Amino acid sequence: MIDIHGLIKDFGVTRVIDGIDMTVSEGEVVVLIGASGSGKSTFLRCLNGLETLTAGEIVIESVLLERNPKSLKQIRREVGMVFQQFNLFPHLTVLGNIIEAPVHVLKQRKNDAIQVALELLTKVGLSDKQDSFPGTLSGGQGQRVAIARALAMHPKIMLFDEPTSALDPELVGEVLTVMKQLAEDGMTMIVVTHEMSFAKEVADRVIFIDEGRIVEQGPPSQIFGDPQEERTQAFLSRFS
Ligand code: ATP
Ligand code: MG
Repeated sequence: MIDIHGLIKDFGVTRVIDGIDMTVSEGEVVVLIGASGSGKSTFLRCLNGLETLTAGEIVIESVLLERNPKSLKQIRREVGMVFQQFNLFPHLTVLGNIIEAPVHVLKQRKNDAIQVALELLTKVGLSDKQDSFPGTLSGGQGQRVAIARALAMHPKIMLFDEPTSALDPELVGEVLTVMKQLAEDGMTMIVVTHEMSFAKEVADRVIFIDEGRIVEQGPPSQIFGDPQEERTQAFLSRFS
């Protein structure tokens, strides 16, 4: 479902992604961990065409990611992304935010889009917030709306870039609960997070990245319980 070969990304003379090969299968939940600046966000941004690739190949759902509008459009339809800072449209209600792309990009009928949006809002536990404006929501609620908005495009893959790291600690759980449910529903997910308990509980595979390379990967029990590489051990020791 996702095939990545020899991915390299340079910013000027700096090599940020240094030869990543990765295959992610349908329904798999992959958690990426690594220090600040190790290239995690850049990697996710490459996956949905937000960065040009210096070298290598990305194939998602049999579509080769290329810098032409057709390929980018196809890829972005398959791949939903949730960022640390959920960029909800402040002038639209919660419902308006969720139906915006289905109506304007997918050309769904407004009533159909509203139907789906209301189901998604129930799923993320916010059925009472459809008419609220983003500015009136808590961080955790805003992030759950951002997840519902991404799901409204019916992506096959969801990318999460530290979706809880800007939240007050007491709001982290409600967002992780929604993500966990999504994983249980069978969504293919790549999640960058420092929430190690989430990784332990939900990930099928944990990948430790350092300096733009995969240093070590495996099931969470192995990566957290018996890391083989010194760099993995050093990184994880900060969390215990
Ligand atoms: P963090 O945990 O802090 O979010 P990260 O692992 O997500 O870090 P990236 O944001 O991918 O790291 O950044 C990797 C490196 O690439 C950093 O050195 C960063 O300064 C550099 N970088 C990222 N985006 C750009 C850009 N647009 N132009 C130049 N350098 C960039
Ligand atoms: Mg980042």
